[in-house]
Amino acid sequence: LVRQRMVERLARGGLREPAVVQAMHQVPRHAFVDPALVQQAYEDTALPIGHGQTISKPSVVGRMLELLHAGLQARSAGTLGRVLEIGTGCGYQTALLAQMSRQVVSIERIGALFDKAREHLSAWRLDHVRLVLGDGMLGHAPLAPYDTIVAAAGGDALPPAWLDQLAVGGRLVAPLAPGAGRGQVLVVIDRHAHGLVRTEHEAVHFVPLRSGTA
Ligand code: SAH
Repeated sequence: LVRQRMVERLARGGLREPAVVQAMHQVPRHAFVDPALVQQAYEDTALPIGHGQTISKPSVVGRMLELLHAGLQARSAGTLGRVLEIGTGCGYQTALLAQMSRQVVSIERIGALFDKAREHLSAWRLDHVRLVLGDGMLGHAPLAPYDTIVAAAGGDALPPAWLDQLAVGGRLVAPLAPGAGRGQVLVVIDRHAHGLVRTEHEAVHFVPLRSGTA
């Protein structure tokens, strides 16, 4: 019921896409946060998940999924197709992506969060989700190219591997600080047959993208 109310609030806030609304309705956000934070799980706030990281606000997660979905066009059977997620964190967004796609590869650089996400997602028997412990700045070449790439951490440049691993017809959504003195914005990159098209959207506040593993 509180989940229902969260989804209704998001819809009032502008979330329209039925596939996203349905996924957010299906995945219990409270099961991905610390027991002490369960009461706050359906408020529209970022919550700590340990190791200095946060699970993003539901409205921001919904917005990213909607941007990804809006880029679908030719992608397989009305889904996000094969997805690369950078920054698994607690696995909440991974579970949402799993509802909307054919396959999800999700990379996390912090071992303890990788373990936590695996535990959270084990309840779901998601055969089409692969969790990877590693540096997401390198993408995951063995399963490239991806129809959808989404990052939950932002740097001041997009790692070249992400663009290399984006399929023709595919879409990438990531937070990015595009210039000196400017904060993060959501950036969308579409790969067309003839090259990349970039658009910038609203300001956001994601944790920093870091290289290497921890
Ligand atoms: N979508 C996640 C949000 C987690 S916050 C959730 O639902 O919980 C972003 C995550 O990105 C953090 O866990 C952080 O450790 C991770 N991260 C940062 N840089 C990374 C990198 N280079 N490769 C993989 N993960 C990275």
